[in-house]
Amino acid sequence: MHFKLTEEILKLSDSKYWNSAKLEWNFEYAYYSEELQSCLCGHYPIKNICVIKNKTNKRIAEVGNCCVNKFLGIEDGNKIFASIKRVKEDFTKSMSSEVLEYLNNKKALSNFEYKFYTDIIRKRKLSEKQLEIKKRINQKLIDFTSYESNSSFSKINQVLIWAVDNPQFDKGFILSLKESCHKKGRLSEKQKIALDNIIAKFKINPFS
Ligand SMILES: [Zn+2]
Repeated sequence: MHFKLTEEILKLSDSKYWNSAKLEWNFEYAYYSEELQSCLCGHYPIKNICVIKNKTNKRIAEVGNCCVNKFLGIEDGNKIFASIKRVKEDFTKSMSSEVLEYLNNKKALSNFEYKFYTDIIRKRKLSEKQLEIKKRINQKLIDFTSYESNSSFSKINQVLIWAVDNPQFDKGFILSLKESCHKKGRLSEKQKIALDNIIAKFKINPFS
């Protein structure tokens, strides 16, 4: 399994040598998949998935969290999956402050939500209203890290990568989808159809 993963990552990297190729990759997103997926290493099924992005050629790969830890030394996913698990078990619990920063950096939270959560993150006693807002923000973590929203993100990114070589394409709509997906954690059915139509119309292939 080890060789399969390094081989697949090398195919997507600019460098032909593992030691430098692995440095090309950065953590981008983490998501939890209810649907069973396979890792680049061939391991099946995996549920904790990291989306990693190559700094030099902008390619995207989806790898199981354990492989990302083991072979690429990328540990960003661990805290996110720990928070997803904690919040899913009990919606009154808090995500960690690192995960709150992650959501905020990805523009998944409003200024109010970020500030509110920062204030209450260690408080045990909350008013009913505060608890309600907290649960709503916890739901944002779950939505943002769902397979559904991440498959939309990866499609949006494919279109944006394709657009670099196709400057006549107006990116405005795609950028508005990206923003909306960040804010709501998912695309509406109409938006999903519109995105799929663009991909079909322009015959956009991942990694092409
Ligand atoms: Zn793997």
